[in-house]
Amino acid sequence: MKIPKKHPRSKSLIERHKIEEGMKKGIVTPTGMIAQGRGEAFDYLLGERTIAPAQKAIKAAAALLLLAKFPVISVNGNTTVLCGNETVALAKSLGCEIEVNLFYRSQKREKLIEKEFQRSGVGILGVNPKKKLKGISSKRAMVDAKGIWKSDCVLVMLEDGDRTEVLRKNGKKVVAIDLNPLSRTAKKGNITIIDNCTRAVPLLTKEIRKLKKKNDSELRRIIKGFNNNKNLRQCVNCIKKGV
Ligand code: ATP
Repeated sequence: MKIPKKHPRSKSLIERHKIEEGMKKGIVTPTGMIAQGRGEAFDYLLGERTIAPAQKAIKAAAALLLLAKFPVISVNGNTTVLCGNETVALAKSLGCEIEVNLFYRSQKREKLIEKEFQRSGVGILGVNPKKKLKGISSKRAMVDAKGIWKSDCVLVMLEDGDRTEVLRKNGKKVVAIDLNPLSRTAKKGNITIIDNCTRAVPLLTKEIRKLKKKNDSELRRIIKGFNNNKNLRQCVNCIKKGV
């Protein structure tokens, strides 16, 4: 697909192109393409920008991730192709592991994703994992003993509600990045950032670098002042005002 250089919607065209390329490589599945379409629709309604409630959620998420003893970033096919390099920068800012978890798990796809991250100079967890989370019967229950299994806080992006719920049931705090404020993931997360992962991940990295200088009680105060349900309602209001 030819991408026009200065087209007002060129950002979403670039994302679509990345997803298409990911599909050709076998990293993204047809279901991932559907998820991309759903995301694009919500991004359009949000004005394809980071709205004020999302900025607030990014600050609270940064505080929660900094307070965690063992945070892990969970990636899938879509997030690898959309914001793989940005995810590496985020993991470096936190000093945490990246773990692959796929809805349609296959060793071939896990390895392809691992290879993408190796190109950015990092190794990832979750290839052929051995531990099983309680409460979910599919292969998605499998997690890495050195990663999500022992984590206390997991960052998920473009995730489905079932897995988010299972992570919570297994005692993990969940930070979610999702464009749909009405999704089950958005509602189940402890802190949900309603934004495109391509914008939210770099902003989260920036916020983490800033908040690193704060002490634990200041970070706790930021989290205490954040209410996820209220924030989601504000996001829905932003959409209503825009249409
Ligand atoms: P749930 O099970 O949480 O209700 P779902 O079944 O609608 O969600 P999935 O297809 O499992 O969703 O996951 C895709 C989610 O990711 C959707 O909510 C979609 O809006 C969101 N999404 C798609 N693209 C992006 C993106 N680039 N950045 C952030 N979120 C995205």
